[in-house]
Amino acid sequence: MSEERSLNFLEEIIEQDIAAGTHNGRVHTRFPPEPNGYLHIGHATSICLNFGLAKKYNGKCNLRFDDTNPTTEETEYVENIKNDIKWLGFQWDNEFYASDYFDKLYEFATLLISKGLAYVDDSTAEEIAATKGSTTTPGTNSPYRSRTIEENLHLFTEMRAGKYKDGEKTLRAKVDMAHPNLLLRDPLMYRIKHEHHHRTGNKWCIYPMYDFAHGQSDSIEEITHSICTLEFIHHRPLYNWFIEQLGIFPSRQYEFARRNLTYTVMSKRKLLQLVNEKHVTGWDDPRMPTISGMRRRGYPPEALRTFSDTIGIAKRENIVDIGMLEFCVREQLNKKANRVMAVLDPVRLIVTNYPEGVTEVFHAENNPEDQSAGTREVPFSRELWIEREDFMEEAPKKFFRLAPGNKVRLKNAYIVTCDGCVKDESGTITEIHCTYLPESKSGNDTSGLTVKGTIHWVSIQHAKTAEVRLYDRLFRVEDPSNEDGDFKDYINPDSVQTLPSVFIEPAMAKTMPGQSVQFMRKGYFCADTDSTPDRLIFNRTVTLKDAWAKEQKRN
Ligand code: ATP
Ligand code: MG
Repeated sequence: MSEERSLNFLEEIIEQDIAAGTHNGRVHTRFPPEPNGYLHIGHATSICLNFGLAKKYNGKCNLRFDDTNPTTEETEYVENIKNDIKWLGFQWDNEFYASDYFDKLYEFATLLISKGLAYVDDSTAEEIAATKGSTTTPGTNSPYRSRTIEENLHLFTEMRAGKYKDGEKTLRAKVDMAHPNLLLRDPLMYRIKHEHHHRTGNKWCIYPMYDFAHGQSDSIEEITHSICTLEFIHHRPLYNWFIEQLGIFPSRQYEFARRNLTYTVMSKRKLLQLVNEKHVTGWDDPRMPTISGMRRRGYPPEALRTFSDTIGIAKRENIVDIGMLEFCVREQLNKKANRVMAVLDPVRLIVTNYPEGVTEVFHAENNPEDQSAGTREVPFSRELWIEREDFMEEAPKKFFRLAPGNKVRLKNAYIVTCDGCVKDESGTITEIHCTYLPESKSGNDTSGLTVKGTIHWVSIQHAKTAEVRLYDRLFRVEDPSNEDGDFKDYINPDSVQTLPSVFIEPAMAKTMPGQSVQFMRKGYFCADTDSTPDRLIFNRTVTLKDAWAKEQKRN
């Protein structure tokens, strides 16, 4: 983004804070994932925002695992989250775990009890819900609200010691059961859960609620600007209430709108369903909106960062067109992906006047956008594979590819004239015949001819084969979460098409997993994680142009 871009609202707040000397002008953000799934593109934008602000203002950014819920969290997720952040190009200043603060949080809770600001409640979840009141009616006080400080301290110790079963008791903050904000009507601080935690093991059987863990963790780390998504806006008064009552470091919460993307779903709960019910091959399936899926599909990290910068931040929920992300991906790949020739739907082309048994080696430029990318050797011979769609027996006027009598250039090689084709009994074309003009050799063309079409090809004798996976949108509709019924009813049944043997240039035999290439005229592709020299596999990252938009318009 250009330096002249106007400040977004968070930058404005930060610059005001720096000018006013708030927190001594220090900027310290954090990215707080819950390790209950893989990160998705929404998280990626939050990462870019938090790490980006820290970098811009010479501040720091912590990575904090928000691991206060033992039921859903796993170490596997922790490792993948770290890997994804590094791949995106960011390095955290500190790695923390909210679970490391369990002792401290317990102390804070005890302090609030001692101040008469928290109490142990024996009500069931249903009873608590029933006394909450509504936006128009006040709630009613729990019969346990008037317990003495001593009794509460004692009961809370017993809760911790494991004397009670799950759900038998909770610890609640004593705020105001008539508060206009329902979240302040004596919110839960602790619940009993006899569960193993991925880091603290069986040490605890009481776990703090989000509202009693998040702000306190921010405060312990002396986070200056705690940025979260909009659904927490009503939690902010509670965030501040706990910090004020405890008299701890005054972190401040700021909210921005969640970023959503068309033709996908973003919540981890839904993504987990796709994985568990095998609608995809895993969290890193190239159709998933996860960072690991996008990486496997071949999206470069720079593209994700540019995307995040481009869409900016908003205060209202919005859904961003996936086309915007794909635009960023193409822009990056155009700069860095080598051009190669691959024939996805092959038919034979015989250059009838080219000598049999001869191989000519051309030196082809790897990337016209990048001279430093060098050249590679491309063998040419009498029999070539070309795309079936590049020939038409009876072609309309504007068809500038092969048709009887038409001239086209074979990329990096010669101009050929199409002479016709051979068919089998069923009428399927089995061979196309052409003649070449020796004086039209690429780089040394003295033919004086100009042709309107250039097609790609691979020499049959030298071709290698690869499996190619063509990916499309995972969903048929723009916003599957907003449709009637289950979001899974809207899965696109044709989101992947596997081509088992595509012919590729021999130079591609050494493509390493994760490496991106452009199959000329076909799109950007990336060697899959499972690709080996013996079994090459390429994933289509994105088409060259926005074929989808065109398709939609036609329908
Ligand atoms: P999900 O609902 O997808 O599971 P989450 O908010 O529960 O997401 P967390 O692991 O708690 O996931 O999120 C870590 C950080 O990423 C939070 O600060 C959260 O606000 C932010 N974040 C999550 N989803 C998005 C999104 N779609 N756009 C922007 N930021 C997001
Ligand atoms: Mg969450």
